[in-house]
Amino acid sequence: MAGGVERCMYCEDSAGHAIEHFWPRSRFPERAFCWENLLLTCDRCNNHHKRTQFPLSLQGEPLLVDPTAEEPGMHLELRPREGLMLAREGSAKGETTIGVLGLNRYELRKGRKIAWTGLQALVERYGRFKEQDRAEEAALCAGTLTGHPFPAVLEVLLRTAERADAEQYVDPECLAVLRSHGSDLRALLARGLSSQAAPVSPARPL
Ligand SMILES: [Zn+2]
Repeated sequence: MAGGVERCMYCEDSAGHAIEHFWPRSRFPERAFCWENLLLTCDRCNNHHKRTQFPLSLQGEPLLVDPTAEEPGMHLELRPREGLMLAREGSAKGETTIGVLGLNRYELRKGRKIAWTGLQALVERYGRFKEQDRAEEAALCAGTLTGHPFPAVLEVLLRTAERADAEQYVDPECLAVLRSHGSDLRALLARGLSSQAAPVSPARPL
């Protein structure tokens, strides 16, 4: 499952309610019940975009990023201010993944742009609560941040704050909070993701 609250592993936006077979079961029935082949995705990604598409390289390797086995950031680069997903350094796997899954469809681009602005406002709010020692409100705010759709946008925000030219991209108040509390937020984000991983752990029976 992607970060946020039970989001789709491909688009990070809609709820992940559909069982997606990474290697399509119609073409690879031997993998139909293989745990590693089952992903939680949204209906839009599963039934309207990927369907049975599964391009392979000449060597027979998948040309789609497998979110259970690969770091998507190796092949994909998010530009949240424009809402765009791009192939990192011309990665063929990145290009194919974006095309097959429609990762630049209208609602995803719009949602990422909204997340970029909304998350900054939430970070500012979190910083104000921390400053005022209002621990309960700060914790609630942190929960909203880590449960927000498009968790990759928060990751980009945290990374951008480390850049020397971050002022060009991030609101000054938000930037100050990210620079003083960035490690707290990174820890919360990591914890949020690991606590969500538990319900779909292979150790649990189906
Ligand atoms: Zn999706």
